[in-house]
Amino acid sequence: MKKAWKPTLPPFRKFKRDVYLKHSKTAGFIYQLGEGAVIRTKSQEIPVAAIAAPETKEKIAYLKKCLLRYRAITGMGRGIAAIQVGIPQRFAVIYMLDTKDIMTIINPVITKKSHSLLRFPEGCMSEGPLFAPVTRPSWIEFSYYDEQGQKQYWNTKDENQRDKITNRVFQHEIDHMDGVIFLDRADLRNLTLESDPAYYDKAAFEEVE
Ligand SMILES: [Zn+2]
Repeated sequence: MKKAWKPTLPPFRKFKRDVYLKHSKTAGFIYQLGEGAVIRTKSQEIPVAAIAAPETKEKIAYLKKCLLRYRAITGMGRGIAAIQVGIPQRFAVIYMLDTKDIMTIINPVITKKSHSLLRFPEGCMSEGPLFAPVTRPSWIEFSYYDEQGQKQYWNTKDENQRDKITNRVFQHEIDHMDGVIFLDRADLRNLTLESDPAYYDKAAFEEVE
C-alpha cells in the first residue's frame, strides 16, 4: 500500500556516522569532558630543573604521539594540552602548519593580549563533536620554556589567517592548563554538532567591537 506520509530524515547521515566513528576512536586515549574532573583540573608548573628529566621527556613524547594519532584519525587537530591525556602539568604541543613541526610550550605565561578581538569557531579534542564561536584577543604574547629548558617568547602577531589561528590555538591550550575549556567562553546559542561537512569552510574571522 502506498504510504500517505514518510519522515524527513536529517541530512549528512553518512558524514555523521564517520564523525562519531572518529570520536569513538580518539576518546580511547583523550580524556573527555565530564570524565571525573580531569579536564577541569588546574595543572602544575614543571620545575625548570625537571624539564630535561627523562620522565618529562617521555611525557612530552607521549603527548606528541597522541596529537599525531588524533590528526591521523580525524584529519584535524592543532594542539593538545597535557591534562587532556591525564597529565596535570603545564605543557602543550602544537602542530605548526607552516613547518609541519610540533612545537612544545612548557609553563607558558601570557604577558600581553591584543585589544582587538576576533570571533571564530572552535572545537576541542576533549569535547567530542561540539563546535561554537569563541571571541578571543586576535594575538597574544607569552613566555614559555622549550624542551631544552630555555626560556622563549612568542610574539608573532596576526598578519594572516594562519597566524590568527595559531595565536588562537595557544590561547585555547593555555586555558586548558587552568581547567578552562572553550565552551566556557563560547557563544552557546550558536553551539553546533559536527554535522555539517562545510562548517569550517564557511568559518571566517569576524572582528568584534
Ligand atoms: Zn581543547
